[in-house]
Amino acid sequence: MGKKNSRISIMIIPHTEKVRRLTVPSWVPKVFFIAIITTIINVSLAFNKIYTSHMSLEEEYKEKISIINKLEEENKNKEVELSKLKSQNKKLYEKTNEVEEKLAEIEKLQREVEKLVGIKSPSRGGGLDDNLSREITEPVAELQVLKEVLEDKEKELIAFIDDVEKQLQYLETVPSLWPAKGKLTSKFGNRKNPFGRGIQFHYGIDIANSTGTDIRAAGSGKIIFSGYKTGYGYTIIIDHGNGYKTYYGHNSKLLVNKGDKVEKGQVIAKMGSTGRSTGPHLHFEIHKSDKPIDPLTVLK
Ligand SMILES: [Zn+2]
Repeated sequence: MGKKNSRISIMIIPHTEKVRRLTVPSWVPKVFFIAIITTIINVSLAFNKIYTSHMSLEEEYKEKISIINKLEEENKNKEVELSKLKSQNKKLYEKTNEVEEKLAEIEKLQREVEKLVGIKSPSRGGGLDDNLSREITEPVAELQVLKEVLEDKEKELIAFIDDVEKQLQYLETVPSLWPAKGKLTSKFGNRKNPFGRGIQFHYGIDIANSTGTDIRAAGSGKIIFSGYKTGYGYTIIIDHGNGYKTYYGHNSKLLVNKGDKVEKGQVIAKMGSTGRSTGPHLHFEIHKSDKPIDPLTVLK
C-alpha cells in the first residue's frame, strides 16, 4: 500500500479457482479502523456502566443483608425477652395460685373459729378475682389486683380477730362453767321445804360433795360480795357484766375479797354447810338482769 496511491488492492487467492482482485479506495480501511476503535470504546463504556451499576447493586445488596442481620438480631433479643416474660408470668401465676389456696385456707379457718366461738360474721370477700385463675396477660396489672386483694384480706382479718377476741372475752364472762364437782341434789324451781312443811321455790341448784371441795367461778368477773349472808352462810357474789351475776352459798371458807377480779374457773371458796344447810353442798344461783334463772340453761 503506497502512500501516494489513492487506491489499494486486496488479492483473494483461492486454491481451486483463479485469483480474484478486489480494488477499494484507500480511505476504506481507515474508516473501517475508526469504526472498530469507536465500537471498542463504546463497548468499553457500556461495560464500565454495567460494572458500576453492578457494583452499586452489590453494595446495596450488602447493606440490605446487614439490615436483615440486624433485624434478626433484634428479633432474637425480643424472643429472649418474651420467653423471660413468659417464665415470669408462669411464676406469677403459680404464686397467685398459692396465694389463692392460702386465702381459701384462711377462709376455712375463719369459718371454724366462727363456729367455735359462736359468731356469725357477714359474708366476707371470696377468693381472688376469677381472671387471676386464668392466663395472665398483664403481670403488672394482675400484681396490682393481687396486692389490693391481700390488703383487703389483711383489713378483714384484723377486724375478724377483733370480733373473735371480743366474743371470747364475752364467752369468758358467761357463767357456763360448773362451779363444783359433785352430785346435783336439788334443781331450780318448786320443791318440798327441806326444813319444814309445804312447798318452797328454790332459786338455784345444789351440788353436794365433801367439805373443802373447790368452788370455782362459773365465769370471769368482779367479786361484789364476800362474807356472811343470812340463810346463805358464807357467800360469794360475782358480777360478770352483760347482766349476769352468780351466787355461791354455804361455803366453809372464802378465798377472794370484794373488789377482786376473778377468771373463769378460778377457785374462790371451799364447800361447806354454813347458813341454812342440811349438809355440805354448794347452793348456786345465776341472776340475769337481777332475776334468778335456771342455772341448767346456762351451764355447759
Ligand atoms: Zn340451794
